[in-house]
Formats: sequence, C-alpha cells, structure tokens
Amino acid sequence: MSASDPDCIFCAIAAGEAPAEIIDSDEHTVTLLDINPATKGHALVIPRAHTEDLMSIGEEELCHTAVAAQRAAKRMEETLQPDGFNVINACGVAAWQTVFHFHLHVVPRFTDDPLELPWVPSPGDPEEISATARRIRGED
Ligand code: 5GP
Ligand code: ZN
Repeated sequence: MSASDPDCIFCAIAAGEAPAEIIDSDEHTVTLLDINPATKGHALVIPRAHTEDLMSIGEEELCHTAVAAQRAAKRMEETLQPDGFNVINACGVAAWQTVFHFHLHVVPRFTDDPLELPWVPSPGDPEEISATARRIRGED
C-alpha cells in the first residue's frame, strides 16, 4: 500500500485535485456522491490512503471507512429519508470492482426504487454448505 497513487481518480479526489460532490470528510476518509448513482444519494466512502481492495486494506483504515459509511447513512436518513440502505463493496474484477482504490458504496434504498437482488435465492444443498464451511475453517 502507498499513501497515494498518481494514476488513481479517488486519490485525486481525496487530495482535492479532481472535482467531486463531497458530503463528508475526516482525517481518514472522504465521502462523495457517485457520478453514476444507482439511487438518489448513492455515495462512495473512500479512505484517504490508497489501498487497492478489501484484501489489502488495513484493519484500522477499514474501521474508519465503515464508521464513515454509517455516518453518511445516518445523515442521509435525516435528509433524504430513504426506507433503507445497502452498503456494498466490490473486491476484484469478478465481483464488479472497477475502481481499484478501496471504497464502500452506501446506497439509500426507496421502496419504489428499481434495484433488484442480483441473485435468485434458492435453498442450497446442506451437505455442500457443510463441506464448504469445513473447507473455509481449514478442516479439510
Ligand atoms: P466499483 O465498480 O469499483 O465498485 O465502484 C466504482 C464506482 O465509482 C462506480 O459506481 C462509478 O460510478 C464511480 N466512479 C468512477 N469514477 C468516478 C469519478 O470520477 N467520480 C465519482 N464521483 N464517481 C466515480
Ligand atoms: Zn487511490
């Protein structure tokens, strides 16, 4: 991890060198509105320090970013009065990450908004779920 990446748009925004609609900031984070909003108020919470993704961000920076996401959600609850929120992180190209500076999406949700769950819930095979859990716990 380096403090700043000269080719990173979010580093430029955090440094005040690229324009953004910033709604909150503190010593560790900047929160701005997404230029391609999924819903009204869709925000991105970024740590000021450049780090690529969930795998590489340090625990303290992650905590600061999560706390700032909660603060943004609370502020939007008071002002935009949404019916709920999704807090989303994309880690890796396969998971739809497009900007490789860690960020949390804070997406205000409205009962009549057009967003849909990106998977169809259906019961999994219990044995397969158990086998996967054993694998993740390192038992296999
Ligand atoms: P990801 O796809 O990595 O999870 O999210 C990146 C997000 O950053 C996208 O939703 C995209 O619309 C947003 N984004 C990309 N470039 C800019 C920019 O220059 N300014 C702002 N405000 N948002 C951006
Ligand atoms: Zn960056």
